[in-house]
Amino acid sequence: MKKNLLLTVSLILMSLSALAQAPIGIAIHGGAGTIERGNLSKAQETAIRSALSDAIEAGHQVLTDGGSSLDAVVAAVRILEDAPEFNAGRGAVLTHDGTVEMDASIMDGASLAAGAVASVAGIRHPIEAARAVMTDSPHVMLVSDGATAFAETIGLEFKDPDWFITEFRAEQLRAVQARQDASVQLSEDWFSTVGAVALDGDGNLAAATSTGGMTNKRWGRVGDSPIIGAGTYADNRACAVSATGHGEFFIRHVVAYDICARIRHAGLDLAESADAVVNGVLVKAGGDGGVIAIDAQGNIAMPFNTEGMYRAAIDAAGRKTIAIYGDD
Ligand code: ASP
Repeated sequence: MKKNLLLTVSLILMSLSALAQAPIGIAIHGGAGTIERGNLSKAQETAIRSALSDAIEAGHQVLTDGGSSLDAVVAAVRILEDAPEFNAGRGAVLTHDGTVEMDASIMDGASLAAGAVASVAGIRHPIEAARAVMTDSPHVMLVSDGATAFAETIGLEFKDPDWFITEFRAEQLRAVQARQDASVQLSEDWFSTVGAVALDGDGNLAAATSTGGMTNKRWGRVGDSPIIGAGTYADNRACAVSATGHGEFFIRHVVAYDICARIRHAGLDLAESADAVVNGVLVKAGGDGGVIAIDAQGNIAMPFNTEGMYRAAIDAAGRKTIAIYGDD
């Protein structure tokens, strides 16, 4: 009798503590592409791994402090935007004219609210601008000078155009322009857009993506990153996704939404759905890239169809992964 009572009490205590520890998790990416051992110098690899580590820790800290998934993805993306190794914020790739034009978007899986900016210049953290479009405007997407004017009115931080430009990106542009005839617009062996997805302790999902787009882009080209459903999507009923890769393909195949839709409507689990889209649909279409995704149970998937993808995650059990290559 006493034994039974003890067993019941301990079972109740165990389920209470499980309830108290609702799963949290976060994943980030810093781009996908022909990232193979030997392509990166030791110094580059160390800088990339350390920026990924700082970003994933910052986002995870927000979650362990009881913060929202939206705050967590913004905290992680801000760090990656400042890291010159990645194609977002400082260190973004250069347009045909040698300028920086950035795109970003964010989505709240609880309400399906979303915000995006495209072709913006001078804003230190484009992800903050995207978030402000979501929270402080009645719109979902603002572009170019209008988006910049909006960012000024809400007091976001601006930097001089030169602050964004690194010698590495200037050299990359020279190399692309030297090997292309003028009619070819897009050429990049790898992509290094940044993004984050997170699940917070209240069961809310969020996704965020930020990029400079593609080297040598012109005519106001905009890729998938600021397009809700293509490069970014979050829905508490399914998952949160941030993508990186050849944007034109991700737009045509509505990649981030498709991954969530297959979970909701076809009953696939996160790993199956992300794999079907990245290694099925996209490969068939010829679209290089990858995604990071997390579902409402805290499962994380990070598939890519390229040689590598800069990525990191901290899962519900607190396990931290930082990886670059396919066999990492
Ligand atoms: N998806 C981005 C774009 O097409 C590029 C990237 O992922 O690096 O603009």
